[in-house]
Amino acid sequence: MPITETERRETKSSAPAAPQPQEQHAVCNGYGACSKSGCNCQGFEGSGGTCGNQGCGHSYQDHW
Ligand SMILES: [Zn+2]
Ligand SMILES: [Zn+2]
Repeated sequence: MPITETERRETKSSAPAAPQPQEQHAVCNGYGACSKSGCNCQGFEGSGGTCGNQGCGHSYQDHW
C-alpha cells in the first residue's frame, strides 16, 4: 500500500494551518488607531479586549 503518498498529502494539507495566528496578530496589536476599515477610532480605549470608543467596539488586536 502506498502509505508514503497518504502521509505526504496529510503533511501538505496541514501545512497552511501551521503558521501561528498569534505572530500575525502581533503586527497590529496595541493602543494605536483601529485598523478596521471605516472605523475612525484613533486609539484603543478601555480595559479588557474590547475598545470602548464610540463607533469602534473592536478588539484590542484590531488596533495598531
Ligand atoms: Zn478602537
Ligand atoms: Zn474600530
